Amino acid sequence: MENDCLFCKILTGDIPAEVIYESDTVMAFRDINPQAPTHAVIIPKKHIATINEVGLEDMAAVGSLFVAAKEIAAQESLAERGYRVVMNCNADAGQTVFHIHLHLLGGRPMSWPPG
Ligand code: AMP
Ligand code: ZN
Repeated sequence: MENDCLFCKILTGDIPAEVIYESDTVMAFRDINPQAPTHAVIIPKKHIATINEVGLEDMAAVGSLFVAAKEIAAQESLAERGYRVVMNCNADAGQTVFHIHLHLLGGRPMSWPPG
């Protein structure tokens, strides 16, 4: 846990969020500023600031972000029509919260490449 990390505060319940999925290693909640009809933020319970800090010991937790994405996509009836998962790293990608998180976006067609 990092004292000044927004997502660690969501994990401890100090900041409220609409939690839609939880396992031993990850939690997911609805994005406060959704960019699609479904926009979930999936985070590991361990504080890792960016992808650059992911270690071999984090393989199971990082893998479970994708298991969560699959489960949430099924819950939201997105599995067949499709959805996008994305993780931003540092400034050029637009990362604003420095606790790694997978965005799950779905419910509308999306263009490629992202802007
Ligand atoms: P990123 O820009 O990739 O770091 O994504 C951070 C995401 O966290 C953004 O999509 C924000 O809208 C979202 N966010 C920020 N604060 C909250 C919050 N309190 N509850 C839910 N989502 C949040
Ligand atoms: Zn954190």
